[in-house]
Amino acid sequence: MPTPATTDIALVGAGIMSATLGAILRRLEPDATITVIERSGAAAGESSGPWNNAGTGHAGLCELFYTPQKPDGSIDIAKAVRVNEQFQVTRQFWAYAVQDGLLGQPRDFVNPIPHVSFVHGVDGVDYLRRRHHALADHPLFGGAEFITDFAEFAARLPLMAAGRNPDLPVALDWAPDGTDVDFGALTRQLIGYGVRHGTTVLFDHEVRTLSREPGGGWTLDLRNRRTGQRRRLNAKFVFLGAGGGTLGLLQKSGIGEARGFGGFPIGGRFLRCGDPEVTSRHRAKVYGAPAPGAPSTTAPHLDARVVDGASWLLFGPFAGWSPKFLKHGRAMDLPRSVRLDNVMSMLGAGMGERELVGYLIGQLRRTHSARVDELREFIPDALDRDWSAIRAGQRVQVIRNGRLEFETTIVSATDGSMAGLLGASPGASTAVPAMLEVLARCFPGRLADWMPTLREMVPSLGIRLSDEPALFAQVWEWGNRQLQLS
Ligand SMILES: Cc1cc2nc3c(=O)[nH]c(=O)nc-3n(C[C@H](O)[C@H](O)[C@H](O)COP(=O)(O)OP(=O)(O)OC[C@H]3O[C@@H](n4cnc5c(N)ncnc54)[C@H](O)[C@@H]3O)c2cc1C
Repeated sequence: MPTPATTDIALVGAGIMSATLGAILRRLEPDATITVIERSGAAAGESSGPWNNAGTGHAGLCELFYTPQKPDGSIDIAKAVRVNEQFQVTRQFWAYAVQDGLLGQPRDFVNPIPHVSFVHGVDGVDYLRRRHHALADHPLFGGAEFITDFAEFAARLPLMAAGRNPDLPVALDWAPDGTDVDFGALTRQLIGYGVRHGTTVLFDHEVRTLSREPGGGWTLDLRNRRTGQRRRLNAKFVFLGAGGGTLGLLQKSGIGEARGFGGFPIGGRFLRCGDPEVTSRHRAKVYGAPAPGAPSTTAPHLDARVVDGASWLLFGPFAGWSPKFLKHGRAMDLPRSVRLDNVMSMLGAGMGERELVGYLIGQLRRTHSARVDELREFIPDALDRDWSAIRAGQRVQVIRNGRLEFETTIVSATDGSMAGLLGASPGASTAVPAMLEVLARCFPGRLADWMPTLREMVPSLGIRLSDEPALFAQVWEWGNRQLQLS
């Protein structure tokens, strides 16, 4: 094999995580050599692609699973606040990136749209009212309206009101300042910025294995998936942003910090409608409550989307199952991920999640009509023929200590030469704080030098905006202006 090529920084995978880290590092270290290695022929072909996720800029505004009810009946808002704080970091970076020309027209990747929680039935309305009051005084959640009046419901959500019995109790919590995000377009723009400034991208190249170099850094074995040719790349720092492929690569790296982790794949489908007669009657992202026994990530939602300038409606997700860790992965992904160090943990999670397994089996049996029936809870008059099923991205939920987790987790080597991101929730919306954490863990010695630029990127860096309403108002206004979200 030829002598390995070298790079300072190797980013594995061309999804939103590598794209974000690559753009930040490009700015911080203009002279560094950066190489992105992507197994498919284009960026954002997996979870970050617009049809593989729901495009919600998750800020905790409408997702009921971020505000569970405690045993005493009070509402726990901690997670919604945490997710919102994380999204504010992401939003500031996007504002900076538009202002400084890393990104082009904001409308190409982000659109303003109300985020709405939706419940029906007396208990649901009671829960939503308490949730609304619990969040109402919080500085990051001001401006939401609680709506129970059916006429108002119908004025705001005509598609969801048509054919609905006005005598049955319904409620909305209406947050006007949400976003719809095309994470695929965003990924491509960020990668494009890197390429214009010297980053190399190797498409159709898969990282097969990676091993530590005795003098520090890593050697990556790559295979060109079109020609079959093998090559090697030496890198001082490696980020594994391979989505569902990250777990396997972490395991191959042999770093102790990856021991014990397992993964459980959950696929999914959406129903999609592009008929202007239908899409023009719904301008909101509306989230309901997850079904009993279902994972929080499968809470049903009806999303207005803008992709490549066209309006769409998306409903789902309907959970599915396949042993693949990537949508375009291999059936052996799950069995190959079972190792001596994680087998007990995976078995433990399997035993503890029988309700989830039952739920997934039920979902797999669903026919198109059964899925549209579920949609009718949101759109009573929905017609089967207006909606078609599309396959969503594959999530690999983290298994650790015998439990299934629904969060994102960063795993990093103690010497800072490698980091990888596992899990998929809240996902792309928190790419910026996640990648800033990678920098803090892996480049502690460079942070002081980088701090002025990092503060330009995220003016509130290190500050809880919940405690600083004046600063929040300032960065919010700046974000609105740059991203044209007012
Ligand atoms: C159904 C669904 C709905 C979602 N909804 C939302 C939402 O509304 N809002 C939100 O913020 N997030 C959402 N998410 C989560 C979000 O999509 C993901 O967190 C995010 O896209 C992950 O980005 P990534 O860069 O880590 O991975 P990916 O986008 O999956 O990219 C990984 C890349 O690595 C490549 N790769 C894999 N293995 C290798 C290898 N060995 N060598 C080279 N390349 C490799 C893959 O081909 C892929 O291009 C959703 C996810 C799903 C599945």
